[in-house]
Amino acid sequence: MDNLFFRKAMGKFATGVTVVTTKTEEGIHGMTANAFMSVSLEPKLVTISIDNKARMLDKIHKSKKFAISFLAEDQVHVSMHFAGQKKSDEEIEFEEIHNLPAIKGALATIACEVTQSMVVGDHTLFVGKVLEIKVIDGQPLTFYGGKYGRYQPLENAI
Ligand code: FAD
Repeated sequence: MDNLFFRKAMGKFATGVTVVTTKTEEGIHGMTANAFMSVSLEPKLVTISIDNKARMLDKIHKSKKFAISFLAEDQVHVSMHFAGQKKSDEEIEFEEIHNLPAIKGALATIACEVTQSMVVGDHTLFVGKVLEIKVIDGQPLTFYGGKYGRYQPLENAI
């Protein structure tokens, strides 16, 4: 199976878009990620998957903490900025959650401490114990087939 086909097939799974942030003595670091999963209710655990070549990997290993921000539909410039696709013309604003930086204006921000990390192929999975959550109203940014989009609920469906 070739890599392009695998990526194309995985792109058929629509997701939201998050920015993972952390803070070390070198400062704040952010990275766009859609490999996010809610894992457990009791205890409250979530997982992110970070490329072993990403600068974020070493930062999370050092800080042992990270925040996740679920981006709103008007934050595509934030996603592109933290994916290294296009520098944002607007200044990126952070807000604090549990002493961690998160993206201001995100629909939800989640502060986590790392409980487990596991190298899986060319990525590392971090399991985070949820320390604090903040939520605001709004519409999510989506990602499907390699393109950003909006969420459209179906009428007459539960
Ligand atoms: P860099 O490439 O150095 O940083 C990313 C960008 O953020 C740079 O432009 C940098 O200047 C900027 N930046 C970082 N910190 C700050 C700060 N404090 N203030 C201002 N700007 C800052 N990769 C994964 O590993 N896992 C995923 O789940 C994943 N999902 C993705 C989903 C989408 C929709 C997209 C578009 C990309 C995804 N990627 C994912 C790829 C990943 O976002 C990029 O490869 C990213 O560039 C890797 O970041 P890095 O940590 O190596 O740091």
